[in-house]
Amino acid sequence: MNKVPDINEDKMAADEVSPNKANLLGLSAAQLGDFFESAGEKRFRGTQVLKWIHQRGVIDFDQMTDLSRSLREKLHQIAEIRLPEVVRQDDAEDGVIKWLIETGSSGCIEMVYIPEGDRGTLCVSSQVGCALDCSFCATGKQGFNRDLTAAEVIGQMWIAVNTLGGFGAQSERRVTNTVMMGMGEPLLNFDNVVAAMSLMLDDNGYGLSKRRVTLSTAGMVPMLDRLADVIDVSLAVSLHAPNDELRDQLVPINKKYPIAMLLASANNYLEKLPDKRRKITIEYTLMDQVNDRPQHAKELADLLRDTPCKINLIPFNPFPNTEYRRVSNNSLYRFKEILINAGYTVTVRTTRGDDIAAACGQLAGAVNDRTRRGERYRDKALKSEKLLEKSTSSEEQLVRIIHA
Ligand code: SAH
Repeated sequence: MNKVPDINEDKMAADEVSPNKANLLGLSAAQLGDFFESAGEKRFRGTQVLKWIHQRGVIDFDQMTDLSRSLREKLHQIAEIRLPEVVRQDDAEDGVIKWLIETGSSGCIEMVYIPEGDRGTLCVSSQVGCALDCSFCATGKQGFNRDLTAAEVIGQMWIAVNTLGGFGAQSERRVTNTVMMGMGEPLLNFDNVVAAMSLMLDDNGYGLSKRRVTLSTAGMVPMLDRLADVIDVSLAVSLHAPNDELRDQLVPINKKYPIAMLLASANNYLEKLPDKRRKITIEYTLMDQVNDRPQHAKELADLLRDTPCKINLIPFNPFPNTEYRRVSNNSLYRFKEILINAGYTVTVRTTRGDDIAAACGQLAGAVNDRTRRGERYRDKALKSEKLLEKSTSSEEQLVRIIHA
């Protein structure tokens, strides 16, 4: 275990929640304006407080020197700025950092910082666990507990920037990009995720460009249909298969919202944005012998013909007791070549932070599952022959599965 940032020392413990006080951390500019108005104050106080929290990293009302003493006292009575609690920080050899964050009795979530040249990407979680149960994702195997609050979503950004020394100063390690690709399905926590992303974009907040804030979805079509009406961010679609038969097995939500519907909705999203040159990122996790055949690549090339997109290939990242294997280098190369020859821009996501299990699909936190899926999975895993063959005790295995 590595160092835990100082911020935990002077902030409230997670169980010291004050039900009567509004947590200002997760409020967007408009919501902060409403808050101050309803407290009988001027709306612009909201902008001042937003800047203190998200631009300067100040979470103590007493340090907000452009607010009068009486207003600061009033804020102490009616409001608070409460961050989620970091319980663990792991630093990988390649500069990747993973944080385990407490969410009270519902369990823990994880977020990951990935530095790469002059770019620093923060992979943010949106839910404690995930309800969608994609067959190749460790988070899905943990089951689902609850949505994160907007404060818990943007709190991840605050914690990362603070740890990297990025408030106010030009730190070398900066968060330049965010991707909603941690635990959970962001579109199933629509309002909170939109509020948090709007703070990431806000010039008085983190000031990231809309091209550098990416929402990734497994295909929640009804919410995707609404997204462009409320925010303009980059969109990634987790496709993983070129036909419904295969996608039904990998991404079960496909049975409800099949590929044609999903691509139509994604295209509509692009059409509603003011900038007509925007593209979707199609994510395709490659698993050995499952979806990595040349035929799949050709089918994918045909399927995406009318969708402005680039394709991001993700070699499958294994986790304990998964039935899938990573794509071979040969198949990956062949798959990529077919798509490039068909005219697509293709990138391959390199695996980072694998010494601390921080790669895509490996984020599991420690979810107190309410669906019993995690329990069923653990039972099944414990019974499986694979486990019995191993020399380690069942208990040890169980601990490893839970902390995968
Ligand atoms: N629920 C959202 C965001 C979370 S996952 C979504 O589905 O898009 C971020 C990406 O990692 C998704 O494309 C997801 O399918 C992929 N992924 C999940 N498990 C993986 C694994 N074991 N190896 C590689 N990629 C994985």
